[in-house]
Amino acid sequence: MSLAHFGELIWESYRQDSILQPLWDYLRLHHCDTLRSPLFPVFLSVSSYFIFCLPYLLCDIMGDRWPAVYRYKIQPSKMPTHTMFLRCASITLRNHILLVFPAAVAQWAWRPPIPLPEQAPTLLELVGGVAGNLLLFDLQYFIWHLLHHKVRWLYVTFHAIHHEYSAPFALATQCLGGWELVTVGFWTTLNPVLMRCHLLTTWAFMLAHVYVSVEDHCGYDFPWSTSRLIPFGIYGGPSKHDVHHQKPNTNFAPHFSHWDKLLGTHADFSFVKSQEKIY
Ligand SMILES: [Zn+2]
Ligand SMILES: [Zn+2]
Repeated sequence: MSLAHFGELIWESYRQDSILQPLWDYLRLHHCDTLRSPLFPVFLSVSSYFIFCLPYLLCDIMGDRWPAVYRYKIQPSKMPTHTMFLRCASITLRNHILLVFPAAVAQWAWRPPIPLPEQAPTLLELVGGVAGNLLLFDLQYFIWHLLHHKVRWLYVTFHAIHHEYSAPFALATQCLGGWELVTVGFWTTLNPVLMRCHLLTTWAFMLAHVYVSVEDHCGYDFPWSTSRLIPFGIYGGPSKHDVHHQKPNTNFAPHFSHWDKLLGTHADFSFVKSQEKIY
């Protein structure tokens, strides 16, 4: 037996032991039609967006009546108002009616149902796939974002709408122009295909991406925020993106810190974290 063949056997036995197999089998056998539908990824990202926004929205509505939560607000003097909630919700609704819904119908009409593989991904493949997709999107959006701040016409025409609020809040995540939404949707759909990810990995990435995007805008730096959970300042999280909304020519990368540090656009956000000591 050659060494390559032996390695293949080890890999196969490792794959067969995936702890995700029972979950995948359950989904595949009981919800096959739903999961194969081209509409499923759209449903997953839209519903998860509103579910992830909900707790933060509640925190904003309660404000200083919940001091235990309010102490983590990054800019406590700038609480969002009902008018701001309504404006963002109406922009999100408009984008969904004009762009997301037609794109979903087009997918449903033209794309055949996706076959579901029998094998689940290993946990390592899933985590690696999600991290790889986040890293690739981070680079793509960094370039897009930098261009749309540096070229005045691009900023005014496409990105200024996202900078209406210097103190972000969860519902402002999708306060986007149509072009930005289409670009983000294009990459998050295409990247997992390019990286040949398993469908379960693709959906896990979509959920992770929606979660971190909402968290970036939530306006709170909780002890469980991603920037605190991931060590060595690798990950920016809500404080870093909050600073981008305060100083729009800094912190262009949506998730990680390395591109801003390498290209000199990094702005310190550690002062944001020290604010909670005031309360
Ligand atoms: Zn933003
Ligand atoms: Zn920006």
